[in-house]
Amino acid sequence: MSVIEYDVIIIGAGVAGLTAGARLAEDGYRVALVTKGEPTACLSTGCIDVCSLDHDPMHAISHLPEEHPYHLTARASIRGALDRFKSSLNEIGAQYTGTLENNRYILSALGTYKTTCLTPVTMSAVPQNDDEDIHIITFSGLKDFYPSYIISRRKNSSSSIYDAGASTTMGLAANFEQEEFLENFIVWLEKQNIRESKIAFPAVLGLESAAKIAQKIQNRLGRKVFEIPTIPPSMPGRRLFNALKHYFRKKGGTIYWSWPVSGVEKSGNIIEAVITPSEGRPNSLNAKAFVLGTGSFVGGGLTAGRSKITEIVFDLPVHTPGSRDDWFDNDYFSINHGIGTAGIIADASFRPKESPWENIFVCGSILAHTKILKYGCGHGLAVVTGHAAAKACAEYIR
Ligand SMILES: Cc1cc2nc3c(=O)[nH]c(=O)nc-3n(C[C@H](O)[C@H](O)[C@H](O)COP(=O)(O)OP(=O)(O)OC[C@H]3O[C@@H](n4cnc5c(N)ncnc54)[C@H](O)[C@@H]3O)c2cc1C
Repeated sequence: MSVIEYDVIIIGAGVAGLTAGARLAEDGYRVALVTKGEPTACLSTGCIDVCSLDHDPMHAISHLPEEHPYHLTARASIRGALDRFKSSLNEIGAQYTGTLENNRYILSALGTYKTTCLTPVTMSAVPQNDDEDIHIITFSGLKDFYPSYIISRRKNSSSSIYDAGASTTMGLAANFEQEEFLENFIVWLEKQNIRESKIAFPAVLGLESAAKIAQKIQNRLGRKVFEIPTIPPSMPGRRLFNALKHYFRKKGGTIYWSWPVSGVEKSGNIIEAVITPSEGRPNSLNAKAFVLGTGSFVGGGLTAGRSKITEIVFDLPVHTPGSRDDWFDNDYFSINHGIGTAGIIADASFRPKESPWENIFVCGSILAHTKILKYGCGHGLAVVTGHAAAKACAEYIR
């Protein structure tokens, strides 16, 4: 077996795991992150929902049921974690805007509003009501983006179509990264004699340089520009994932990609190593402590069988909301789905409750009682609990 040693191993490359990893790496620990694959962030709008139940997210959090994992952290720590999220991404040029005092709206591909808290800077000019006129640009062949629906909900708005020679979000975004393509596009845009005060695009304005590209279009056209997230695969979600990965590596973290954890080595009440399969000998990653951020059912951290819900890496005790008859529903994305409370119950130090292991810390959507869809708290909760689990883990190994 090939053996590699670290201070901490993070399991899972979601917003929670990458946040926890970055915080530990910033504090000088030797951190590795091992992941099966991409996180749910790649399916998301890239916006950070903190708690969407009220216009004031912090006020909304204080009204969540007492078992919600947000209540494991102090108010100041929630603010601190989200401030650090913004400043760390800012450091690598992936700027986020918004405040914890006010939720805001972004537009969907159907023209409806979605409530969120922190948005990529390319969405900062999204109108906050129906009164502002917008001009929407779409691209020949691009599916699942509906300018006519968006326009039908707004006053004095119109749209134009550009043939960009690509029709997928990824292909379009790659085109925008090329200077010549961008220049030709801006020249075409200038000829459209747009009268509306803002110009909207599906979120394809570049892979990693979207902020700069939007700014360039804005400067040349003299109008505010903003992006509208498309359905998955979502460029803003992927940009968020790439930015968090980049930041983690910049702080000294190591990522083992496509390494699903399939076993553990243990001694007494300590986990000594996680094991991942390989074509030759299995890999064994040893560490003093482990942070579990494998997500819920979509991420792959939990799996539901006929009779029980299982946590797949450490076989930790899983809180299950009654019998299968109580929680089973074919519509996984229904906001009141009973399974939204399933997961790992953590204590105040983010260790799994009723588990024998003293060196495991848990964060993100694998936690119990999150009800992420109902409370609108996806990435926000992942950032906050990722920080908190990392802090508790650092205290333990110190
Ligand atoms: C379709 C969709 C859209 C969403 N949109 C938004 C949004 O716009 N805004 C928002 O705030 N929230 C959104 N959310 C919620 C948000 O994505 C999640 O709540 C949050 O990002 C969860 O992060 P996580 O780190 O806990 O887990 P995940 O993102 O699920 O990541 C889990 C990671 O663990 C890895 N993993 C799993 N099993 C193993 C294993 N055995 N070994 C190694 N690695 C493993 C996975 O490969 C993955 O990298 C959305 C969710 C979905 C499903």
